[in-house]
Amino acid sequence: SLENQLQKFRNSFPALSGNLIYFDSAATSLKPQVLIDTTVNFYSTAGTVHRSQYKEAQSLTDLYEETRTLIARFISAQQPENIIWTKGATESANLIAHSYFKDILTADDEIIVSESEHHANLIPWIMLAKTTGATLITLPLNENAIPCLDSFKKLINTKTKLLAITQMSNLTGAITPLQTFIEVAHRYDCKVVIDGSQGIVHSSIDVEALNIDFYFFSAHKLYGPTGVGVLYASPSVIDDMQPWQGGGKMLVHAKMEDYIAAEPPYCFEAGTPNIAGIIGFNAVLKWWQQWPLDGFEKHAISLATKTHHLLSELPLYKRISVPSSSILTFTLKGIHPSDLDMLLAEQNIAIRSGMHCAHPLNRTLGINGSIRASFAPFNTDKEVELFISAIKKAVSILR
Ligand code: PMP
Repeated sequence: SLENQLQKFRNSFPALSGNLIYFDSAATSLKPQVLIDTTVNFYSTAGTVHRSQYKEAQSLTDLYEETRTLIARFISAQQPENIIWTKGATESANLIAHSYFKDILTADDEIIVSESEHHANLIPWIMLAKTTGATLITLPLNENAIPCLDSFKKLINTKTKLLAITQMSNLTGAITPLQTFIEVAHRYDCKVVIDGSQGIVHSSIDVEALNIDFYFFSAHKLYGPTGVGVLYASPSVIDDMQPWQGGGKMLVHAKMEDYIAAEPPYCFEAGTPNIAGIIGFNAVLKWWQQWPLDGFEKHAISLATKTHHLLSELPLYKRISVPSSSILTFTLKGIHPSDLDMLLAEQNIAIRSGMHCAHPLNRTLGINGSIRASFAPFNTDKEVELFISAIKKAVSILR
């Protein structure tokens, strides 16, 4: 039954063996035992990847490349060659800016960025606009906190070269209807960069059916290790990308004055990669895909909804996030989010307070910080009840 599976899932996490209540999965997920075991095994054997002939190194290379294939399948990309390893979502966005757009954009061009972006999918485009002279244009949100399609249709024109947009907001949980945005963008030959950092955890994605140009996320939000990121670059863009970091293994031949770059994706992966992380992520991907994910997601959403209903009884409570999301972001008027966070921390409850790396979105929403409780399938009704009484206790101290 689903109950059984949820309990088994919960048992995967050593971090939950004490009395921690973890409502901060949108910041980073907890790590399952399988990741820890795989990592320990890796550091107990010898070798590196793509460099040596000995048996251990060969099997590491096989596993390392198998992970690329697993990721390709996971996001429905045809070719593993379109998957580039990075150290996280942030590095993926910066790689796209440097490898693709920096040489293509001119001072006549325009970049459209939605107002709901995490700084990782905003600051690289501000920097790009500064170096190329292109103009950054803000795509406003509609009344449901979703990037506004009508506004996009009005803003896009033949000068628009890039639309940067999130699959799911880390602050509101709002989900972007990607397909329509992509269709409109492509009519103008505008490339689309999708931040899948939150979306990949809560839904599936088919990058090729959607015709996405660039898609990225971090492994650490999907129960994987820190320091590993994924960048999908479609066949329509990858051959036009230039290497942005030079070093070992991104080339086929070098002499003192010049070098010949390797084929993608290797030309974008200079230096010894995060082998432990990528191999750990391999085990995590296999582990993750064995669960009934639809049922799990419904469970997390139902906990967020229940929490919302219980908090609604508190005076001056306001939900910031959208309904039916596993992310519940809220304010309690008169209470500073970080004060509440501190009192909850004293009761072993992990939430996130602040601006959630989305300063412009705070401004749009007319808030100056908020509290975010993000729910995962391992969370329970009991934890929600403890959370509510902890909040009531904190509020009685703070008000
Ligand atoms: N985009 C979104 C929507 C996020 O939630 C995050 C992580 N908070 C990032 C990008 C950046 O991820 P990372 O810090 O792992 O690079």
